[in-house]
Amino acid sequence: MDVDLQQLLTSAAEVGARHRATVGNRPVQPVTDRDTLTSALGGDGDLQAGPTPPAEVVRQLVEAAEPGLVGTVGPRFFGFVIGGSSPAATAADILATGWDQCAYNEVLSPAAAAAERAAGSWAKQLLGLPAQASVGFVTGAQAANTVGLAVGRHRVLADVGWDVEREGLFGAPRVAIVASEERHATIDRAARLLGFGTSVIHPVPATSQGAIDVEALGRALDVLAGEPVIVCLQAGNVNTGACDNLSAAIPLARRVGGWVHVDGAFGLWAAASPRTAHLLDGVEAADSWGTDAHKWLNVPYDSGLAFCADAALHAATMSYAASYLTGSGAGSDFVLGDLTPESSRRARGFAVWAALRELGRDGVADLVDRSCALTRRMAARLEAGGATIHNDVVLNQLLVSVGDTAHTDAVIAEVQRDGTCWVGGTTWHGQRLIRVSVSNATTTEDDIDLSADAILRAAAVVGARAPSAT
Ligand SMILES: *Cc1c(COP(=O)(O)O)cnc(C)c1O
Repeated sequence: MDVDLQQLLTSAAEVGARHRATVGNRPVQPVTDRDTLTSALGGDGDLQAGPTPPAEVVRQLVEAAEPGLVGTVGPRFFGFVIGGSSPAATAADILATGWDQCAYNEVLSPAAAAAERAAGSWAKQLLGLPAQASVGFVTGAQAANTVGLAVGRHRVLADVGWDVEREGLFGAPRVAIVASEERHATIDRAARLLGFGTSVIHPVPATSQGAIDVEALGRALDVLAGEPVIVCLQAGNVNTGACDNLSAAIPLARRVGGWVHVDGAFGLWAAASPRTAHLLDGVEAADSWGTDAHKWLNVPYDSGLAFCADAALHAATMSYAASYLTGSGAGSDFVLGDLTPESSRRARGFAVWAALRELGRDGVADLVDRSCALTRRMAARLEAGGATIHNDVVLNQLLVSVGDTAHTDAVIAEVQRDGTCWVGGTTWHGQRLIRVSVSNATTTEDDIDLSADAILRAAAVVGARAPSAT
């Protein structure tokens, strides 16, 4: 088959670029359904026997998939914590696909290794992490949290004479994981994947804003003194944006010899702006950190960073050796694959490198500041329209209700149906609320104003439908 690869890749890139150029002008939520999409992709039938020409495959995919794309990369998607995707990072990710490098080690791709070293080093500077820390390029904060807890498991069990890499957890001394009741659910999944189970998690009460209650943490740790302990702290509560008081909490964990992991999926990036860096005071004293590049840094999915202050420990936990591989786990000369749960892996470093090169220090700080300012603007617009704000807007997360919270889910459904913007819901302190997360670099003040109006309009529609609402 004679394939014009250049034309094929160019046309695919053009489709992506067209999507970006128009995403802000289309409804955020697609109007289609599951059966239509399944059938458009042929998922209701058998795979045909013969081949399909590549250009035809791409044509079919674009035609079938486009009606089912959500405008998550656009300026008015405020659900979950979904970043955009910067121009340079997007292009770099297309290059990573074109080059198809396997980022396992230096032999397989000296370029991917160098990009990860550069991007990792810049990220540490921005986030205020120790210069000697190791950086694994993982799929996201779930993976990064799992790596951090795995290295912690290795260290705290080694401290009591147990080699977990060899003996596993059967018969091992019990390890306690101490974490806020407001920890992200990925911490629990990491605990399950690592064989701890969730029953070893000691939930510590949180403040009204969702940061760990430091005095309660102290009391929980006192009870556990002498036992192997991993303390999981959080920078950026997914509902409120609240950050744990790291400078007070980390010394408490140190007192009992605990491992300290910080889940900073989006919140860690607040360290990059002088305006918000104080929320991360003391962050450098932890042992491991997890963050996302695909959220606030606006790198395409999927991309996360797992940092560890002790590079040798990081590699001792994550590496493996095989006779046909070179350099793995040897001395202090780590290979990329010694720091991640994946073995063969996409060269994610190119896109992270590109995002950081594109923005520079000031650009990242500005991205953080602008997102926070836009979140405050949204809060002010909504409040002026009669809404109630339920959190201190310290970062880019906002909790809001309009009218009776019993109708919150109906308001959310109406906002999504309207399509101007997209917001999701959450349950916070027993109430159903609207969650707004501003994480996309392309969002403007006009986008915020249009979206606030759409949310207030939806609340009016729902209110008119349910006149008994107070
Ligand atoms: C999003 C998030 C995670 C999980 O990140 P993924 O990118 O989905 O793996 C973990 N912790 C916090 C605080 C988050 O906001």
